[in-house]
Amino acid sequence: MFRKILIANRGEIALRIIQACRELGIPTVAVYATADRDSLHVTYADEEVCIGPPPSGQSYLNISALVSAAEITGADAIHPGYGFLAENAHFAEVLAECNLAWIGPPPEVIRRMGDKAAARRTAVEAGVPVLPGSGEPLASLSEARQLAAGVGFPVILKAAAGGGGRGMRIVRSEAELDKSFETASHEALKAFGDGSIYLEKYLEEPRHIEFQVFGDSHGNVIHLGERECSIQRRHQKIIEEAPSPALTPELREKMGEASVRLCQHVGYQNAGTIEYLLDHDGSFYFMEMNTRIQVEHPVTEMVTGVDLVKLQIAIAAGERLTIPSGLRHRGHAIECRINAEDPRTFAPSPGRLTTFHLPGGPGVRVDTHGYEDYVVPPHYDSLVAKLIAHGNDREEAIARMKRALDFFVIEGIRTIIPLHREILRDPVFRSGRFSTRFMEGFQGRRAAEAKDQ
Ligand code: ADP
Repeated sequence: MFRKILIANRGEIALRIIQACRELGIPTVAVYATADRDSLHVTYADEEVCIGPPPSGQSYLNISALVSAAEITGADAIHPGYGFLAENAHFAEVLAECNLAWIGPPPEVIRRMGDKAAARRTAVEAGVPVLPGSGEPLASLSEARQLAAGVGFPVILKAAAGGGGRGMRIVRSEAELDKSFETASHEALKAFGDGSIYLEKYLEEPRHIEFQVFGDSHGNVIHLGERECSIQRRHQKIIEEAPSPALTPELREKMGEASVRLCQHVGYQNAGTIEYLLDHDGSFYFMEMNTRIQVEHPVTEMVTGVDLVKLQIAIAAGERLTIPSGLRHRGHAIECRINAEDPRTFAPSPGRLTTFHLPGGPGVRVDTHGYEDYVVPPHYDSLVAKLIAHGNDREEAIARMKRALDFFVIEGIRTIIPLHREILRDPVFRSGRFSTRFMEGFQGRRAAEAKDQ
């Protein structure tokens, strides 16, 4: 096992990794930018190193500062969390050269599955269905037209270098394609420094379903079931649950088996997530793979009882997976992302938490780096807490989540707690029959309700 683990991250995930290390009896090193000096991950780690000023390019993304911090403190492994350098193959290679263990998959696997075109090719090789589309970046408008004619409208244009739900454009006709192609490519170049565009079939009302997978260094691969991630705003998840209300045991087995096959095909190691779009008729299509721990991993932990972060560490240290694939799940879990944003306009709302009172009680878990008087800095993402509720079934999980949202008191900044409360009351959400377009319908219902009052 490792002597000491350095956590190359901040916020709630840094704290989550410290919790896992503490249980394993492994000392930790926190790194922090000056804006995070008063953060809980700095307080709770055994040692801390300041790695630079607030901009992440000069701190949390600064590879040489991170390697120096590990060397100074004698850490022998690095956990990257999610975001920042978590899917950076070059970082994983540098660590290997410096004799530091990387708590994640091998760099060549990150590279292969991190590149959308290569990942899609790999899925095809492994016999996992993908959406009809270009697969490779489009060379010209005429190529786009030809392909769209074959695939059939609507189609979606995606920036090859896009991510986090940005750089996508839905196209419903050939005339629209003529207009959108150049603009999309131009916008991609401006936003991501790469103008390459893909085209694929656009599914009108799919569900976003993802599978949690794990591989060890001995060739064993398992899946730990799915997460339902269709409740999104601007293609960004805000509520996740496990299991998905849409999957039958047969479909779960089929998708789980496809996920394991894909991982075996690439020699996957450590934690990963395979994202699919699921259509009405039960067809599912590989979308992408995330080669790291996900924000929404707690819902899987709640229904499986497996500590995914401890498992990541054990596997990186060479241990064998002993958990059976598709392990029996217990009950239902829901996660609400509590972002520091205005619940109506979604404008960021950083600042001091003048009151920060956490809910508790049966089946409730809060992953947060917040505390009373903590100042949410404006430099990073807006996630201040993840509220997770577990129940014997979906109904009980929803009731517990509603109660926990009511008892979660945050003052000094605005958060999207009021939005979550409304979603949890919404009849479509409660029915479990929704798609990734949920928010559009919900906002319409909300506007109609406001007019009636
Ligand atoms: P990113 O890498 O930016 O997260 P993804 O490819 O994972 O982008 O897609 C994010 C979301 O966009 C999906 O969850 C889904 O809601 C929507 N989406 C992406 N591709 C399609 C498609 N072909 N048809 C319908 N919706 C799509």
